[in-house]
Amino acid sequence: MIIGIPKEIKNNENRVALTPAGAFALTKAGHCVLVEKGAGSGSGFEDEEYAQAGASICEVEEVFAKAELIVKVKEYMESEYAYLREDQMVFTYLHIANNEPFAKALIESKTTAIAYETIVSKSGTLPLLTPMSEVAGRMSVQIGASMLQKANGGSGILLGGVPGVMPANVVVIGGGTVGFNAARIASGLGAQVQVFDINAERMAYIDDVSNGTIHTIYNNEYNLRAALKEADLVIGAVLIPGAKAPKLVSEDMVKTMKQGSAIVDVAIDQGGCIETCDHTTTHDDPTFVKHGVLHYSVANMPGAVPRTSTIALSNATLPYILKLADKGLAALKEDAGFRKGLNTYRGVYTCQAVASALHAEY
Ligand code: NAD
Repeated sequence: MIIGIPKEIKNNENRVALTPAGAFALTKAGHCVLVEKGAGSGSGFEDEEYAQAGASICEVEEVFAKAELIVKVKEYMESEYAYLREDQMVFTYLHIANNEPFAKALIESKTTAIAYETIVSKSGTLPLLTPMSEVAGRMSVQIGASMLQKANGGSGILLGGVPGVMPANVVVIGGGTVGFNAARIASGLGAQVQVFDINAERMAYIDDVSNGTIHTIYNNEYNLRAALKEADLVIGAVLIPGAKAPKLVSEDMVKTMKQGSAIVDVAIDQGGCIETCDHTTTHDDPTFVKHGVLHYSVANMPGAVPRTSTIALSNATLPYILKLADKGLAALKEDAGFRKGLNTYRGVYTCQAVASALHAEY
């Protein structure tokens, strides 16, 4: 099969959908890989590396014109809609439930579109969302640590403290992939970490693997209110799949927090779980202050570390790309979880959640 890898053109998007290692695996399996000139440079992968791995370096038009399967990171930008066509498969983060123009373009062009975000693993997890949650969770602590520095407007507290000085209190709301990764890093730096969740099994897991060094607390307003008053860094990491994030921290609760403390609301891409994080921010201007508390609400955190994110994403997507390249759509028939990734096919929506979000027929 001919697989096309275009350069991402979304603002500040430096990831690429395939590493040279991925190109090597695909060409070794007998496929042809077309990589747009400069597609990997934002992630530190130069054209020569792809060429050495067996890929052909092409102009954008050739990639879209010749490929039977286009693999991307982000959704198509409006200027790319003209490339969509019926005899081409697209595999990327689609997020069309929130993007009617792109959804319409996929339906009208009758493109076969498979979304990373709706693929389900055998154990019921979302395997192509996990790597980006791991990145965002780990990043949230290094960002929070820097927000707490005095020169950045923070309270001037070092997360891990030093001998003779108490470490910072870190409150993580939601102990899933983002929350657990955040808690691990914060705890590793020596902070006192509390994870608030409502899933008893998840809390038992965190307690077990951290040997009790990460404290888990059943989340309710009473417990959370008490913890917020003492918190130096709060990380929002809640998810209710398919729904907007619940606002678990009200403005009134933020007002009780210490001056110069920091909030990183990772769940902002689902609307945020902290009431005062009422808008998304960008990597260029990531923070703002409300009630004396620093807030960070960037919706595409992994974009700041494209090298790590590209490799992590490609590790997770490559097995699926190989199956699609080897077997075409038959790969979806063999794997019910992979089939859940199919969002549009021959001009109809094929994912119930997406169709109902768009009030469209399924
Ligand atoms: P996850 O499903 O692994 O974890 C969510 C956790 O929230 C679960 O453990 C769940 O039990 C818990 N939870 C649900 N309701 C709760 C409640 N009322 N109180 C406390 N905990 C509750 O999800 P994840 O992969 O960790 O993702 C978390 C959020 O981070 C999502 O919104 C995701 O989209 C977002 N995210 C954002 C970025 C970014 O760049 N901003 C990057 C990656 C992920």
